[in-house]
Amino acid sequence: MTDIHPAPTNPPRNRLTPPLPFETEKAWSNWGGNQSATPAYTVRPRTDDEALAAVRFAIKEGLSVRAVGAGHSFTPLVQTGGMLMDLSGLSGVTGTDTARRRARAKGGTVISDFGDTLWDQGLGLANQGDIDKQSISGALSTATHGSGIELGCFSSALRWVRLINGHGEIVEYGEDQLRELRAAQVALGTLGIFLDVELQVVDRYYLQERVTYPTWEETRATWDEDIAGNRHYSFLWCPGEESAGLYELPTPAGEPMTNRSYTKRYNAVDMDDAGIDPTEGARRDRSYRIYPGGFMIPFHEMEYYVPAERGMEAVAAVQELIRTAHPDQKYPMEVRWVQRDDAYLSPFHQRDTTVISVSGAPGTNYWPYLRDVDAELERFDARAHWGKIHFMTRSRLEALYPELDAFLSVRRELDPRGIFLNDHTRALLG
Ligand SMILES: Cc1cc2nc3c(=O)[nH]c(=O)nc-3n(C[C@H](O)[C@H](O)[C@H](O)COP(=O)(O)OP(=O)(O)OC[C@H]3O[C@@H](n4cnc5c(N)ncnc54)[C@H](O)[C@@H]3O)c2cc1C
Repeated sequence: MTDIHPAPTNPPRNRLTPPLPFETEKAWSNWGGNQSATPAYTVRPRTDDEALAAVRFAIKEGLSVRAVGAGHSFTPLVQTGGMLMDLSGLSGVTGTDTARRRARAKGGTVISDFGDTLWDQGLGLANQGDIDKQSISGALSTATHGSGIELGCFSSALRWVRLINGHGEIVEYGEDQLRELRAAQVALGTLGIFLDVELQVVDRYYLQERVTYPTWEETRATWDEDIAGNRHYSFLWCPGEESAGLYELPTPAGEPMTNRSYTKRYNAVDMDDAGIDPTEGARRDRSYRIYPGGFMIPFHEMEYYVPAERGMEAVAAVQELIRTAHPDQKYPMEVRWVQRDDAYLSPFHQRDTTVISVSGAPGTNYWPYLRDVDAELERFDARAHWGKIHFMTRSRLEALYPELDAFLSVRRELDPRGIFLNDHTRALLG
């Protein structure tokens, strides 16, 4: 399959004036500092009409457009020499339906902004990841997830979307347009600009956190019961004594951490706000206050997904690789679980999944390590996080994603000229 649509030219020689406030040649870089770009135009629409006018301007002038949320992706998703559209001005939860457990929000809403607003309506997000700084559209676009074998990623909760497509039109897709909805659930920004989204949410709930520090042998011994017996189960395996400190993980005083795990279990608990016990290691609180776990020291992360039934084998293979070939790599390996879903480009498409994340230190040559992890996990038919470092190619996607063609046909209908592609996404999804 090749791209039949010529790429738009970027940027124009004669400076043109977009129909909304804009900046030119403004340097952009991501949270991790490993991606940067200097778009010809950076715009931050304050209304849907401004966003629409900006896309129409770009179409007319042959500029590519890439959306940016919170810039927390490690991959070259956002880069463009054309127009960078910052969606942070289109933000806020706009409505809830408590009977149907639904919430609507503007596309640039930051995940943390759902917490109090949904809680006040008796609702909550079913699950969250390690941080809550991402925009909801960024999280949806890359299938961002938390942990829990019975809990899907954010994208699996998308029930309706209103977006600006590559024809310069505002269109919406809901559950009566499953083909388009399954494409939109995970789209890497290639279908257009998400203005509004509707998510399936749940009744609000409290969580109790339990942290333990088992050895690797103990972690293995309770593998199945931990996965099945906890709402959220995840662990960070430490290859060395300095590992926990690299992610600022608390550790038990005087205990060696090499070949030990920092495990987290979150389970729903009946309580009220008055009963909150913030003691470290036994936190009980509203769900959205328990999930965000820190991870503020910069790191560069790669994350791969293997079938859950082969999770333990795959984790052991990466541990062996670190011990034998990369003993200098000390970041903990994070291991999580995600329930299968139906989105065409979801890494969890029809596959209950074990998530394996490894990181390199910014400023070091971690590439040989990450390439070796990639090669090791390819044996397990691993898919990759779209927003974290990966080595996927178009031919690998063709083998790994049975609905890739369905996604591509929707993408070409919504954006036949490839306005919303950049080099990275064109190579994968053009
Ligand atoms: C410290 C840290 C912790 C993390 N923790 C987790 C975790 O626990 N679980 C996990 O799965 N991932 C995690 N991630 C990865 C992160 O969730 C994803 O990279 C996510 O996409 C980032 O959201 P963002 O708002 O920053 O999006 P960006 O990185 O800004 O953009 C991501 C994609 O979304 C598109 N996009 C953004 N807004 C729109 C819009 N309005 N319309 C259309 N497309 C849009 C962009 O074009 C781009 O393709 C983490 C990343 C970091 C840096």
